[in-house]
Amino acid sequence: MLHSVARWGWCATRELIAAGCTRLVKDRFALVPPIPPVENEAVDVDVKIGRRAKSLNERHRAAVSGTSLAHCLLEQETGDDPVHDMQHRGEQFGMRRIRTRSREITNMLSSKIVVIGLLFSAAVPALAHDLPRRLPLGDGRIGVTPAIGRVLVCNMQFPGGGGAHRVGGWIRDGYWYPGEKPRVEGAVTWPNARVDITVEGRERVVRANALPRHATGVFPIRPGSTAHDYDRNPNSIREQQVLLRLPAEPQAAERPACVPLGMIGFTIAGVAVFNAFDLQGRDAPAYEVQDACNGHPQRRGLYHYHDWSPCMVPADHPADRPVGWMLDGFPILGPRAADGRALTNADLDECHGRVGEVEIDGRRVTTYHYRFTFEYPYTIGCFRGTPIALPRGGAGGGGARPSPGQVLESAARELGVDPSRLRAAVGPPLPNFERAAREQRISADLIRAAFDRARTAAN
Ligand SMILES: [Zn+2]
Repeated sequence: MLHSVARWGWCATRELIAAGCTRLVKDRFALVPPIPPVENEAVDVDVKIGRRAKSLNERHRAAVSGTSLAHCLLEQETGDDPVHDMQHRGEQFGMRRIRTRSREITNMLSSKIVVIGLLFSAAVPALAHDLPRRLPLGDGRIGVTPAIGRVLVCNMQFPGGGGAHRVGGWIRDGYWYPGEKPRVEGAVTWPNARVDITVEGRERVVRANALPRHATGVFPIRPGSTAHDYDRNPNSIREQQVLLRLPAEPQAAERPACVPLGMIGFTIAGVAVFNAFDLQGRDAPAYEVQDACNGHPQRRGLYHYHDWSPCMVPADHPADRPVGWMLDGFPILGPRAADGRALTNADLDECHGRVGEVEIDGRRVTTYHYRFTFEYPYTIGCFRGTPIALPRGGAGGGGARPSPGQVLESAARELGVDPSRLRAAVGPPLPNFERAAREQRISADLIRAAFDRARTAAN
């Protein structure tokens, strides 16, 4: 009889490991106390989960001596057929295949509790990130009337600039292939990240400094890295002052409201949510190169997501509990239903939400709520309620123009030159790119392009 209860969970950091991984979670990879705490030595990785795990294995090996290791364990209480059970559980969570080699099968059967450890970099939260192999490209799927699978945009004109400068090979034939897209490398932690969401009277108040509660890649994107070949995001992640006073009991408006560029919501990870577009009106998650948590900073340094992030919440976060709040006060939830199934646009209305039971502030309420989905438009298609107005130019004011000083700093960073020298070379009063080109020994076109990019905020 099968009595195995494969508990899958996710033991995030070295600290947790040191704590003995006592926090058991129900999803995915399990945290298992019997693993010797602290040691960063990989327990042999015996399970392959499709191609993704294979590449992870390679990374684990490379990362074993690193300090920012995460320890992901898979626990299997053996039943009569543990392998089958693991496969079953894997399929339930959308993983394609779990295979074990015969030696491991023997090992598994011979032990009461089999623990298989995977070690990998904290920047690769990874297996939770089981994206579909390919996704239809969202380019042009915008409109001035609400429609499922489209975004009701506030402005059909996109400012241009910003984002990826080169179309990657992972975009082809009207699709993009998430697994093929490079990532911005690195694992920068933000110990000062602060996010506080409270209900005060009729308002849900978000106070945050917009630093993420998870590791990020290294920004600006490092020249010479693969990511940089496609996306030269010159922005650094910077602390912001976020203060959002959202309606605590939002109401549906008479008609849906359009979705602007810039911040459209905020997550409990301390990270802003932006819409599905880059500044050229293209499918941002497809073209832009983000870090392993699907985030990147815009020009003012506001780190944000354009789609679901595997780092947003722990794997044991209940499917019916919000992961964030949109600017109209309605909650947004993760991409999976309680049974683990990934939701699609077909499950949702034109604003990318539906009415259902949600656990809010410890109470179960039936309310309209949005969903992240793996497919475009990823976040919301329109606002069902009335979004609050953001101060123009403040954190998240995506359309705001940067100051000349910011433009210069940003351009200098992209060109890899000293800002004060560049300042002296190009002006004032008008930017003299030809002179700057002679002095800096960089082509005038390159300098002009860097300034153009720096002038437009990255969405
Ligand atoms: Zn962006």
